[in-house]
Amino acid sequence: MTLSRLFELGRRALAEAGVGPEQVSAVGISCGGPLDRDLGIICGPPGLPGWDEVFVVEAAQARFGRPAYLENDATAAALAESNWGQGQNVARLVYLTISTGIGGGLVLDGHAYRGAAGNGGEPGHIVVDWQGRLCGCGQRGCAEAYVSGPAIARRAAESLQGDKESSLRSLQHDPTVEDVVAHAAAGDPLADALWRETMAILGRVVSVVVNVWEPDLVVLGGGVTQAGSMLIEPVREAALRQAMRPAARAVDVVLTSLGPQIGVLGAAAATLDDVGGAADG
Ligand SMILES: [Zn+2]
Repeated sequence: MTLSRLFELGRRALAEAGVGPEQVSAVGISCGGPLDRDLGIICGPPGLPGWDEVFVVEAAQARFGRPAYLENDATAAALAESNWGQGQNVARLVYLTISTGIGGGLVLDGHAYRGAAGNGGEPGHIVVDWQGRLCGCGQRGCAEAYVSGPAIARRAAESLQGDKESSLRSLQHDPTVEDVVAHAAAGDPLADALWRETMAILGRVVSVVVNVWEPDLVVLGGGVTQAGSMLIEPVREAALRQAMRPAARAVDVVLTSLGPQIGVLGAAAATLDDVGGAADG
């Protein structure tokens, strides 16, 4: 089963790093939500079909003989930014991942904020058009239905259904986010218009996040942010222009500096947060 393969990868990573099992004090697991952190259960995330009521913490504890902790992947990434990335010494940090979905995490004074039921901070489901596109959550018009990687690819395919000219038509496959970015950068009007609209929506979402939480820093990560300056420049400009002025003056919007390792670092950071929290209590 998939879990035992994942655990085996963890064991191999330890062996390759020359870390003995006796040196491991806890196991951190970072996973897309929804999940029940206290019970250690994955609760059917949209990106993991069939993974409903999976007791992953229990399984990890049985496999490794150590306490295990489960954390929402975006919250874990926010903790990684706070510990080792752009958010060191930042009191109020929001991390947004723009990837196969849109996730969010909030770190206040070095600790994760998770909400009453443990899944708080889901900016992907901020509604940008209340009668708009259907989202995986069942509601209409969520940001995730426009700005996630698969949503951008879907919108690109739809925009090619008309007869507008586009260099995207020369592709032998359905356009991906990377194609949209590359063709927009090369000046294709259709790809450019689609990307501008996408950045306008994302900028609006970040401005809402800034207004609601008034953070010191918003860090953007996830696969779609590999577009680099083509993403951060328009999103930062739009977010700071549209947010309320005191909030906009207090905040900056930047890209993650932790790269693809952020998931693993996040799992470790979440474990430290949990162990620290237990010690505090
Ligand atoms: Zn939604």
